Amino acid sequence: MPNEDQMRAVGETCTEYWPIDEDGSPASCSNCNYWEGDDLKCELDIFELQLTNLDQT
Ligand code: SF4
Repeated sequence: MPNEDQMRAVGETCTEYWPIDEDGSPASCSNCNYWEGDDLKCELDIFELQLTNLDQT
């Protein structure tokens, strides 16, 4: 499982980010509706792609 820093960095830039609540909490995969499942991962399976794109900037 990725660490919180990675989930935040991805959440901030992910074009598919879909916040669970609109209370102004910082964007992160951990509060994205697509982040779920028994092993907690991105339902769209784009987390690794997003993370890779981050590394390139
Ligand atoms: S869980 Fe998936 S869709 Fe949601 S912000 Fe993370 S990478 Fe993007």
